[in-house]
Amino acid sequence: MKITEHIQNAKGKTLFSFELLPPIKGQSIRNIYNTIDPLMEFNPPFIDVTYHREDYIYKEQPGGLLQKVAYRKRPGTVAICAAIMSKYKVDAVPHLICGGFTKEETENALIDLQFLGIDNVLVLRGDPRQTEKTFYPTPGGHEYASDLLQHVVDMNHGKYLHENIDVATDQNSFCIGVAGYPEKHFESPNLETDFKYLKKKIDLGADFIVTQMFFDNEKYRKFVEKCREYDIHVPIIPGLKPITSSKQLISLPKTFHLDFPLELSEAVRACKSEKEVKELGIEWLINQSKELIKMGAPVLHFYTMGNPEPTKRVAEAVF
Ligand code: FAD
Repeated sequence: MKITEHIQNAKGKTLFSFELLPPIKGQSIRNIYNTIDPLMEFNPPFIDVTYHREDYIYKEQPGGLLQKVAYRKRPGTVAICAAIMSKYKVDAVPHLICGGFTKEETENALIDLQFLGIDNVLVLRGDPRQTEKTFYPTPGGHEYASDLLQHVVDMNHGKYLHENIDVATDQNSFCIGVAGYPEKHFESPNLETDFKYLKKKIDLGADFIVTQMFFDNEKYRKFVEKCREYDIHVPIIPGLKPITSSKQLISLPKTFHLDFPLELSEAVRACKSEKEVKELGIEWLINQSKELIKMGAPVLHFYTMGNPEPTKRVAEAVF
């Protein structure tokens, strides 16, 4: 079922969902099940699975020459989505990224998703490679999320890359999500420019927005308000993450380009142990979640990062 239908059917009740990372190559899908199992009691109507760009390593060839080899640390998004749908009977939402794929490869992946009966996708540009500071589009691939979005919208209407096809009436069309940044995307020169491109994604046909994590609900409230000013009326799903260690005071702002409220950062610094930090992070997110429910958030979407326990504690307190 489409995420927009899940939200409509909930009739104003806030839903629970979460995001998973594919395990690192060589690990078992058990890791995924171990994250999902404890969270199923909160009835997630959908579960997201991230996609990750290939990185480069250099391998020495006979004669000492170095050869650049592309590899993915976390492959398997499509297979994991299929496994989730079959085992848990909930909708799986694969993330689709521009980086690392030609348009033809993207189209083939989308056809696989259609055959698997997947109704929703979250379309993204993707992060830069870990070895690079800037995002470089793949030759023959999409540059921005809006380009990829247009591709999915075209396919929904039977317009494939090199031919138009009469789409079978029982073929599922994708409900399409995009990313939104309450604290601005880090490459955007200002908030207005970021909103201009967000609006473009909505005008092209995006059905819902999932936000980057934030720790101050005021940022979400202002973001929703500004979206409405820009005539953006799709559901805006807040992305949430519990703080689990004091190191995250540095790592999260660095990676996700966000601010911690002073009250939270000072409270983390005042903690006497990592156990205390974890408890504080859970308590903070419980309060954030309760307030977001009061604010009418359609879904609370948790970034589990392979650790279900803090999310479970929050969900127990608020759902
Ligand atoms: P875009 O919408 O393409 O925007 C990128 C930048 O370009 C922005 O600054 C925007 O303002 C600007 N821009 C947009 N369109 C244009 C245009 N036409 N011309 C000029 N400038 C433009 N990354 C992954 O690799 N895998 C994942 O699974 C993943 N999941 C995510 C889930 C969520 C909910 C979020 C919020 C992020 C996720 N990311 C993921 C990270 C995301 O890929 C990065 O934040 C990336 O840097 C931007 O992606 P985007 O889709 O917002 O890009």
